[in-house]
Amino acid sequence: MEYYSSQINRLVEELSRLPGIGSKSAQRLAFHILNMPKENAQSLAGAITEARNNVRYCKECCTLTDDDLCPVCKNGKRDHRTIMAVENTRDLAAYEKTGKYEGVYHVLHGAISPMLGIGPGDIRLKELMVRLQKDVDELIIATNSSLEGEATAMYISKLVKPTGIKVTRIASGVPVGGDLEYIDEVTLLRALEGRREL
Ligand code: ZN
Repeated sequence: MEYYSSQINRLVEELSRLPGIGSKSAQRLAFHILNMPKENAQSLAGAITEARNNVRYCKECCTLTDDDLCPVCKNGKRDHRTIMAVENTRDLAAYEKTGKYEGVYHVLHGAISPMLGIGPGDIRLKELMVRLQKDVDELIIATNSSLEGEATAMYISKLVKPTGIKVTRIASGVPVGGDLEYIDEVTLLRALEGRREL
């Protein structure tokens, strides 16, 4: 890529490191950014730097947030005795968009995958177990219906059952291998309502 000047090259290279962005898309984005009004480009750069500097894990549910506690955990009107375990913050957002779930969440930041060498110690499971020592009525496991998601659900269920807390799994209205974040709200709600006890 020697036909652009070095600064343009750097921008293209940085963009092409993003997931799903090949070198053609990176070039398109780079020239789009370069043609933006200066203020907009600065605002974009500022948003990236600020978010990256301030975003951390919620002390309670481990979702990404820019405060000690995320808005859901802070909300006293939520049912803090019902916890839904999801794989990532985008899955949390998907369930929040339905507007019908009143409990709180726990974000695992991944799923157990022996194939990829991701074990129970690599996801936020310890933090979940600590939370379950408080007053909790139900743990809803809403990991994806992929192989990893199912393995994670099984593992957590085995770990939690002896505590006497009710453990449920969302129904498989969610297509196999389907990422929660791409599924429409009606299907998500149906999966939640049809959850079964493990
Ligand atoms: Zn939280």
